[in-house]
Amino acid sequence: MDELVALCKRRGFIFQSADIYGGLQGAYDFGPLGVELKNNIKQSWWDSMIYESDNIEGLDSSILTNPLVLRYSGHEDTFSDPLVDCKECKSRFREDQIIDKKCSNCGSDNLTEARPFNLMFKTGVGPIEDQDSYAYLRPETAQQIFTNFKNIIDSTSKSIPFGIAQIGKAFRNEITPRNFIFRVREFEQMELEYFVYPGDDDEAHDSWVQKRLSWWCEQGVPIENIELYDVPKEELAHYSKKTIDLMYKFPHGIEELEGIANRTDFDLGSHSKKQDELNIKANVLNNKDSNSKLAVQDETGKWVVPYVIEPSAGVERGFLAILNEAFTVEDLNDGKQRTVLKLKPHLSPVKVAVIPLKKNDDQMVNHTRSLIQEIKKLKIGRVIFENTGNIGKSYRKHDEIGTPICITVDFETLENGTVTIRDRDSMNQTRVDSEGLKEYINNKIKS
Ligand code: ATP
Repeated sequence: MDELVALCKRRGFIFQSADIYGGLQGAYDFGPLGVELKNNIKQSWWDSMIYESDNIEGLDSSILTNPLVLRYSGHEDTFSDPLVDCKECKSRFREDQIIDKKCSNCGSDNLTEARPFNLMFKTGVGPIEDQDSYAYLRPETAQQIFTNFKNIIDSTSKSIPFGIAQIGKAFRNEITPRNFIFRVREFEQMELEYFVYPGDDDEAHDSWVQKRLSWWCEQGVPIENIELYDVPKEELAHYSKKTIDLMYKFPHGIEELEGIANRTDFDLGSHSKKQDELNIKANVLNNKDSNSKLAVQDETGKWVVPYVIEPSAGVERGFLAILNEAFTVEDLNDGKQRTVLKLKPHLSPVKVAVIPLKKNDDQMVNHTRSLIQEIKKLKIGRVIFENTGNIGKSYRKHDEIGTPICITVDFETLENGTVTIRDRDSMNQTRVDSEGLKEYINNKIKS
């Protein structure tokens, strides 16, 4: 983990938030390379959910959330962790993180009983501060998918089965944020709510577990490194009938990368109810009041509250897993070592670096600039002009940030237009003309 953290800071992937003021615990900023990698992860998820499927719609809902939404979803009552105080040094811990009933800060066993600590952030809304003018920063993106269920059905004419996907910030006032970006207070989620008829839910759940495993594999996190954890009944969230967690071997230990839950009709059912009817279980509603319900008509015309399967992945945890898999230190023939991020090319923050052999040769530098303009027309993401005058140093830098292709412009380029392409992983070098170059780049980045 230390090596990853150091690389992230040194190369501009991730910085502690407000570090010039001593930081803010549980908050991080993504630098020039970090934002590219993060965007590429999110784009890849969006592609797989929205563009590669026929029955999933997108949504970007508000972060500020009406408290009623989170009251009737059950979060006001149950979205809490057990908090324990040390009476000696006043440190606070999550109960399950206490070892041998002792404070991990001062070693005292003078601890309070655990009590529930709600993880939601509250904020004032509007100019008047009073008890009723507040909203929550959403603790998951899912709830506004449920509250928009009818809007989306009505505006898109979707029928069951179909999904609604959303990527966005979520906020949790974690008692002990830790392990770099693994557990933070502000993070992003990539969530799909996939609606099915009751009875089709178990099969859909199994199928989404397999689809999500394949997706992680395509991002460079092999299936062999993910364990499936069938969450025992007593650990299930209040809304879940069954949850399979994808557990990844993070540098600090095996922990949850993504949760895939069968949320049944809990959420749509709860939001459909009158405000004092939270515990109703029925999923078949009366015809007469169905217009105001989050329900659909099945082929017999009966109104049914759909069940929902929810694959929910954290962007930051994905970022960490992908970096961890890509991070490689290789021994070279000359006895030296190189650090290389073997990222899948579609995720690499920089796609191509173009390096003139001589940094002060005007003709070579001008040729490099116009070549970059040509490559940019391919719309592959970031293309960088690397004018260090030191090819070896440039290769080392781009290995370390995971750039899949380095191109060198030299004297021969000025004569016949050919360039040298250097592949990050094999370090093989090939000479190509301009057509060969475009084909190579397209194949490498878009394949
Ligand atoms: P954990 O048990 O680790 O606290 P959770 O079960 O509460 O996680 P979910 O509510 O299932 O997490 O959220 C879905 C996903 O959101 C998680 O799999 C994880 O990737 C991400 N996530 C949740 N909490 C955090 C956090 N504090 N920091 C970063 N990512 C998070």
